[in-house]
Amino acid sequence: TPNIRPLVAGNWKMNGMGDQLDELRVIINRPNSAIGEKIDALICVPATLVWRAAQSVEGEKLSIGGQDCHAKQSGAHTGDIAASMLKDAGASHVIVGHSERRTDHGETDAIVNAKARAGWEAGLTAIICIGETELQRKAGSTLEIIAMQLAGSVPDNATAGNTIVAYEPVWAIGTGLTPTAEDVREVHASIRVALSDRFGDEGKVMRILYGGSVKPSNAVELLGIENVDGALVGGASLKAPDFLAICEAYH
Ligand code: PEP
Repeated sequence: TPNIRPLVAGNWKMNGMGDQLDELRVIINRPNSAIGEKIDALICVPATLVWRAAQSVEGEKLSIGGQDCHAKQSGAHTGDIAASMLKDAGASHVIVGHSERRTDHGETDAIVNAKARAGWEAGLTAIICIGETELQRKAGSTLEIIAMQLAGSVPDNATAGNTIVAYEPVWAIGTGLTPTAEDVREVHASIRVALSDRFGDEGKVMRILYGGSVKPSNAVELLGIENVDGALVGGASLKAPDFLAICEAYH
């Protein structure tokens, strides 16, 4: 989208021991990359690595994010991570409502909405994920599902600064399958209209990322689609050369 600076965001999911942080060094040390020049870049690491990841990219043009947060900032919630903790550890962003969280942990739109607000409260930008299942796509209800998830998961008062929407068709995540360019264009256009209707000028410049099997070989096509303001990248973000190659779609 004109006048929206693209973002390429990685999601390491439940992958990465300490030595995986070497990949961050490779990313920031690549000469003449688009990162920091034409685009912003972010890696969402497992909670155990947020602190060290943030330390190792300090002062560099690569941001660090978490992959989930609790809706509250502290309290009796054994095993959970608060947004304020991610912020304190050096994160600037947090993914909320990833389809794996919705499936594995029964997260509803209302829960995702509360988590996004918790992220804001802690000073984090929330990356709110939505997307239809294969069944829903086959039933022809994609746009309806997307509209419902947007309405429920994106809190009132969302701005282009505190919120990023990620469209991730569930059937395209980790499968190697991607929607056609026309299907991506259609969904992103519908998201743009919904965001603009609800949030006015902020909605016009809120980033809408595409996620689902983005890799170097399809990045140029997917990232060139109208209203695709960057990517959320899972598998291909684990290896710095692949992540960098995706970023190069903007060069
Ligand atoms: C994701 O987990 O957000 C994702 C898009 O995964 P992948 O790129 O591996 O499909």
